[in-house]
Amino acid sequence: MTIVGRSRKHACIRGGTNTSILCLIGLLLVVVGCPGDSSPKPDGALPEPLPELAELAEPAKPARDKARLVRIDVYGAGAADAAGTRVVLLFEGAPLFHQEQLPAQGILPARVAIELEDVEWGDAVPMSQAVNRGGLQRVRLATPNPRVVLDLRPGATGRVFYLTDPYRIVVDVSAGSRRRHNRRPLVVLDPGHGGREPGAANDRHGLVESEVALDLAELTASRLRAIMPRTRVMLTRSTDVDLSLEERCALANAMEADAFVSIHLNASSEPVRKGGVTTFVLDTTNNRQALRLAARENGTRVAEVTGIQSLLAKYHRRTQAEGSLTLAGKIQRHTLQRGRSVLPKLANRGVRRAMFYVLVGARMPSVLVEASFLTYEPEARALTRASYRRALAHGIASGIASYLLAR
Ligand SMILES: [Zn+2]
Repeated sequence: MTIVGRSRKHACIRGGTNTSILCLIGLLLVVVGCPGDSSPKPDGALPEPLPELAELAEPAKPARDKARLVRIDVYGAGAADAAGTRVVLLFEGAPLFHQEQLPAQGILPARVAIELEDVEWGDAVPMSQAVNRGGLQRVRLATPNPRVVLDLRPGATGRVFYLTDPYRIVVDVSAGSRRRHNRRPLVVLDPGHGGREPGAANDRHGLVESEVALDLAELTASRLRAIMPRTRVMLTRSTDVDLSLEERCALANAMEADAFVSIHLNASSEPVRKGGVTTFVLDTTNNRQALRLAARENGTRVAEVTGIQSLLAKYHRRTQAEGSLTLAGKIQRHTLQRGRSVLPKLANRGVRRAMFYVLVGARMPSVLVEASFLTYEPEARALTRASYRRALAHGIASGIASYLLAR
């Protein structure tokens, strides 16, 4: 298992259209039918698009530089009883790929195979990594076509999607349903940014988003433990370290969290007239402000909402939207109410939708809170004071508690 920081080197995206189509087909296949070895639904189940897929996979662009597989990270395998793992293939350049779900066959376990077109391996990519946790046995490289194979454990399923800038293919492995009843609820709080990614800043007041977000998350955690003693609370990071967006949500999935809340501070390069609190749920949007904000939070140059990502948002809408919207509404209301006890004019920017990568693939209600504006003078000044931070944190905690109690 490798757990390493995120490379911020922006990859050059090539052949985007072809890749999107390939991936789109790939995801459709996976989402529609995730075969464990109990329900073999191999290639025979592939629908009509196959010829098209083969056609698209032709190396049609001779001048195209080879994409390079730089690293394979496995997240979420830290706990012995992890409910899932997330495997992230990080590339320089954008590879063409398609994926297959293969049932158990003889001594071979059920597998997810990512077949790559015209890709070279980096030297640091190991030929094989044993995991043996969270539904995943091992990740290995295979030939003759360059492919990455995930050997699954019995009953496990995989879902494949990709993120851009830099290009990443993500496989979410779920160990299978084993809902534990009467267990204590678990909330994962995610302080945004950290390490080499400080996020937004206000130099005049010495405020850095990663530090303020961590402080807010810790205050929220202790408040939540105080008002909901049965609830377990975990932070994705407790120090100033690099943590990839993929790893944050992977942890929540692996631990089967009941809620995932990513905590951030808003900022704008343009003058801010009123600041305020916003809570976001995952979805696609055409709203310019939301697109700009998502690009900043995703670390992308522009918010690239490709076909696959809107498909993922649709998937989220179907499975988690109701819970996410309820959670968002409660956090928004309580945070605003508490925040106004210190800053009476704190503006309500409402519950909104945006394509935040950190929320993609979450298997529980998940939201992202922009708790205040670092670049709005009254809020920045207030954020230098413990009383305002405490008020916001108590608000977030009350919102989460209210959501858990109402389930
Ligand atoms: Zn942020």
